[in-house]
Amino acid sequence: MIELDGSLGEGGGQILRSALSLAMVTGKPFRISRIRAGRPRPGLLRQHLTAVQAAAAVCGGTVQGAELGSVALEFTPGPVRAGDYSFAVGSAGSCTLVLQTVLPALLQASAPSTLELSGGTHNPFAPPAHFLQRSFLPLLARMGAQVDIEIVRCGFYPAGGGALRVRVSPCAALAPLELMQRGALVRLHAESLVAGVPAQVARRELAAVQAALGLADEALAVRELPQNQGPGNALLITCEHEHLSEMVSAFGERGVSAEKVAAQAVRKMQAYMQSGAAVGEHLADQLLLPLALAGSGSFATTAPSQHTLTNAEVIARFLPVDFRFEALPAGATVVRALTRP
Ligand code: ATP
Repeated sequence: MIELDGSLGEGGGQILRSALSLAMVTGKPFRISRIRAGRPRPGLLRQHLTAVQAAAAVCGGTVQGAELGSVALEFTPGPVRAGDYSFAVGSAGSCTLVLQTVLPALLQASAPSTLELSGGTHNPFAPPAHFLQRSFLPLLARMGAQVDIEIVRCGFYPAGGGALRVRVSPCAALAPLELMQRGALVRLHAESLVAGVPAQVARRELAAVQAALGLADEALAVRELPQNQGPGNALLITCEHEHLSEMVSAFGERGVSAEKVAAQAVRKMQAYMQSGAAVGEHLADQLLLPLALAGSGSFATTAPSQHTLTNAEVIARFLPVDFRFEALPAGATVVRALTRP
């Protein structure tokens, strides 16, 4: 039984999600205490509870402590089963993080699976569905795994109600990924999603992004979603390079001006552009587990976040893989996955 302390590092939900994924792919049970001890509301929120239930369903696992607010849990996985699954967060909690939890296991199943997920699709502290589509999944495809996400309906905080349809083709063994360079810039573009929010808000955000990043009119898009998918507003800036695409996001909030939202997204994109690193902070988080499952691989990123370092520690508890973080000049870092002899 692997014992985990949920207060490790930044003490967030990722420790639990990674442990669930790793338990499913390795067949190793684990016990975790002090779940999300580093957060203002510790314990399982709806998103985490749904991830636990989804993991148990996908592998027929047994779990103790799967209740809202629970700060301790024991999870014993069974064999992963491909299938047609449906998981609802039941709040605006992120359904992309539920996907993150079960995806590694479903890749190792013996047949294709489908997932119907509902909840938040565009949340401030989780990977937006568009980010997974554009940034993460193409890299996973390069490693040999075919996963498609269809955004059926967007869901924003606080109403939720978004829906994703995901198709997962199994991949017996992921190939290592080497991603040291982003390559030449191909396209930089921005879009603002608005649901039940005036299109003028989107136009103002995009005007501010255009002024700051020097984008042409053709690189800007207002996407008006049906009113009943809101209220919600997400500003997405995507930059496509030869070897990968990166995306940053910012979210409209009552009382925060469109220009402020735009400034947040612009700051993030400028930081990425200026860093010169191939992989941004959030994409680095997503890539660790696939690299570990491949048994090797490396990428260049910015200085690793506490989140990334914690995730690497959890992975090393389940798999015979260590991550080495090699600092380069100018704040860049090479992350290397190495199988222990
Ligand atoms: P909590 O931290 O409250 O427990 P949580 O369960 O959402 O909440 P975190 O540990 O913060 O967990 O993990 C959030 C995940 O979402 C990480 O993988 C992180 O990289 C990713 N993420 C956060 N913001 C973005 C973003 N803007 N774009 C892409 N990914 C993001």
